[in-house]
This record gives sequence, structure tokens and C-alpha cells, in this order.
Amino acid sequence: MNSDFEVTILGTSAATPSKDTWLSGHYVRAKNLHILIDCGEGTQFQMLRCEISPLKLTHILITHLHGDHYFGLIGLLSSMCLQRREQPLHIFAPSGLDEIITIHAKHSHIIFPFPIHFHPLPDSPSILWEDEEWSIHHFSLNHRIFCQGFLIQEKPPKRKILRDKLPQDFPFQQFPLLQEGKDVVFNDILYKNEEVTTTAYLPRSYAYCSDTSYFEEIIPFIQNVSLLYHESTFIDKDSETAFSTYHSTSVHAATIAQKANTKHLIIGHFSTRYKDLTIFLEEAKSIFPNTHLAESGKVFGIEKSI
Ligand SMILES: [Zn+2]
Repeated sequence: MNSDFEVTILGTSAATPSKDTWLSGHYVRAKNLHILIDCGEGTQFQMLRCEISPLKLTHILITHLHGDHYFGLIGLLSSMCLQRREQPLHIFAPSGLDEIITIHAKHSHIIFPFPIHFHPLPDSPSILWEDEEWSIHHFSLNHRIFCQGFLIQEKPPKRKILRDKLPQDFPFQQFPLLQEGKDVVFNDILYKNEEVTTTAYLPRSYAYCSDTSYFEEIIPFIQNVSLLYHESTFIDKDSETAFSTYHSTSVHAATIAQKANTKHLIIGHFSTRYKDLTIFLEEAKSIFPNTHLAESGKVFGIEKSI
């Protein structure tokens, strides 16, 4: 069954593609929001394979300006032009990407038939966007260049009314107040919200952390998330290389997931030097059992729970 909040993995490789793997890109559907996080070269081919229309995208979030995270963007935007997209597109990315898009458009004589709202990512953590049901946040990672992680957070859902705690003639016009968490007076009796309603389900969340060295400063931003994606470019024996290139290992990713008390962890952004990814999973699971390997085309549903 399809979830109304799910993540599709488009690419899993770090730095360069291989003949079987693709570069960074995650598609997140959060009810009516269609969000692409990172857009490595080949992302639009992967979207075609996964039957995700570029025309649906409402937001594109780019973590940093290393090519393996955004070189697919110009091609994707160009396809949207050819497909006669009309609806606005919000791009949140490091400052400079707007200049890159503009110079490509200038020399290719592209005139975008849809509004692109470019939002440069601020230095300090903030809420980038929100509506009644969702908010998108960013926070700093620790990489060789300016690099940001993202959190997509569901707002608390309406409270569930316990009908058997209310009299038969309780006016239904008061239900919205109860669903919003307010107390209500009826026939001179106070109905306290916590006594006549219950939590419908816990708000869900998805955090995306790539690229970064082991960096405990991110933990407050990703505490208790339902699903965490954390890069794992290297295995534990190559931790010195991870340190010197500002990347993480499977052990680092799992330790962050454990310390942040996340429910599930996806690891990805694997260096193409490793032909067998089993060791990544084994190392991470020894610390954080709910670890999953990123695989191109795989969909992770984020289900409601109490
Ligand atoms: Zn990078």
C-alpha cells in the first residue's frame, strides 16, 4: 500500500556513477508536496524509471555545490521547459546556484515558462518553508564546502475525539475546537481536551544528511526523526579517509542514528571502490539494528504510529 509520506531513492553513489549506480537524489512525497533533494547527474533518468514526473515537483533542495549533488539540475529544468511546465518551482540551495542556472539559460537561450523562486540557504538553521501540515528546515553539516542537511517535519495532526466521553447531544460545531486541542464548555460543564480526545498519531519526519563528517552537532535537529538518511561513503576500516575528505563511515552514520534516537536509518552515498555493500549494512546494524541500505528505485514509506 502506498503511504502518503514516502521517500524514493534515486541514486546511491558518491562522487562518480558506476555502470549500475547513480548519483545523489531522493524524491520525497509528503501528501501534496513533491520534493526532490539533491539532483546528481542522471537524476531525471531515474525519475523516469520510477515514474515520477518532473512536472509534479514543488520544491528542489540542494545540499551543496559539489557536482555529484547538482549536475543533473540544468537538464531537469530544461526538460520542464520542453514539457511546458507552468506552475512555480521553489529551489532552496547554496548561493551561487542561481548564477549557474542563469548563465546556462543565457547561453542556451532558455526562457523558463514557469516562475523559479530561488531561495539561497542561510548560514544559520531556520525554517525554509511551511504550510498547515508540513515544515521544511535546514541545518549545517560539516563538509569541505558549505553544506546543509534538511528536515521535513509533519505538524501535529488534529486530535481524535473520543465520542463515548461526550454526551449524545454534544454540538458537533464544537468538534473543530476539540480537534485543535482546546477545552470546550457545554451546558456549564468544562470538557478538558486531554479527557475527551486522544493523539491521532505522532507527527512524522524525514531528515537528509549528506555530505558530512561525523558531526554530533546535527543531533538536536534530527532527534527522534521517523526516518534518517545519513551518508556512509566509507566502511569503518577506511575511517581515516573519511576524516580527511569530510565524509562518514557506516559506524558514524549508525552512531548518529542511535544517539539521535531515530526510528529507522538509511545509509547511502557509497564510494564506488566497494563492489559489495554487505559490510556497510553489517557494520551499521551492529550499532543500530534498524538500518537499511539505499538502493536505486527503493521506496521507504513512513507510516503513522501512536
Ligand atoms: Zn560533497
